[in-house]
Amino acid sequence: MLDNDNTALEAVIFANKGYKMKTWLLALQQQLSRQIRENKLPHALLFSGVNGAGQEDIAQWLIKVLLCQNLEQNLNENLNQASQENTKVASSIIQPCGFCKTCKLFASDSYPDHLTIVNDKNTIGVDVIRKLGHFFERTAHIGTAKTALVNHADTMTISAANALLKTLEEPTSDSFIILTTQSSDLLLPTIISRCHEFEIRPPVGKKLLAEFNQQGDDAFVNLSHLNELTDEETAVAFVVFRDKVKHYLCTHQYRAEILDILVERREGFRWLEKILVNLMREQWGWPIADSKNGQVNSINKQQLWQVYNLVQAANAKLKTLVQVNRQFLSEKLLVDISVAVQNNKQKIEG
Ligand SMILES: [Zn+2]
Repeated sequence: MLDNDNTALEAVIFANKGYKMKTWLLALQQQLSRQIRENKLPHALLFSGVNGAGQEDIAQWLIKVLLCQNLEQNLNENLNQASQENTKVASSIIQPCGFCKTCKLFASDSYPDHLTIVNDKNTIGVDVIRKLGHFFERTAHIGTAKTALVNHADTMTISAANALLKTLEEPTSDSFIILTTQSSDLLLPTIISRCHEFEIRPPVGKKLLAEFNQQGDDAFVNLSHLNELTDEETAVAFVVFRDKVKHYLCTHQYRAEILDILVERREGFRWLEKILVNLMREQWGWPIADSKNGQVNSINKQQLWQVYNLVQAANAKLKTLVQVNRQFLSEKLLVDISVAVQNNKQKIEG
């Protein structure tokens, strides 16, 4: 787990050559920069974290740094700056120069010594991973380093993962394979064991609870895919669902409607998780009045945190198990939530 000391790192954002990196990634940037300086950067890196944690951002930055032709110069430049105390953190992070041939080609997506694997049709097949193997067998066109990025590595098919294993087992010098995932538990253990895993944890959960109301605005931006914000109909459905979840947590109303969404809508579980993250973040709309008896209800931060954990666990189950009974999972989740909220209420009252 990476600790982020926001106050010490705040200045870095501005010194980061205009590119605003999420604050909690800066410690990881420092760590990787140090490893590059000491020539100790692993050849296979896995960046994992929840959606929006910033694994793709780190991967992009690292690839640019590794490929930049002025890397040596950047190292020295940065170290010289490091003598000035106020830029110490910023300058301990290596940055790509942005103007060399490599940087320019990479920016225009036409750099030949880098390969990005994308998941078409929601899976990464064996063919593209074989392509990746061949890519590393050839010598570099321009520089010396070669990089490949596999985003959503957990969506590799079994045969794709096995093909990648072969490539990981025979690393060529100056080649770097970078994987990103939202669920490293869905990756083959053999893949994970051959990669150096960096788990990115943005300030959610316990840390979020501790930092309530002290958060910067950016901490949760992009924490979820927002297709519900681009499609009108979905947006309305999401808002309706969100309000019902809020009521359910406080008053146990709308159980049937929520169950319906969880069972019928593909994004139901993700929505529920997102709603809980948002609730923890904003605490909006509390307390909720019970429309049946007018009683005012609310749940506390600790309860929200418990419910959030239940939802996360159910979501993970949904993603991991092939033959999962969605109906059963949904019903069980709602029962568990009820119990969690009820128990806490009793504890608080007693
Ligand atoms: Zn450059």
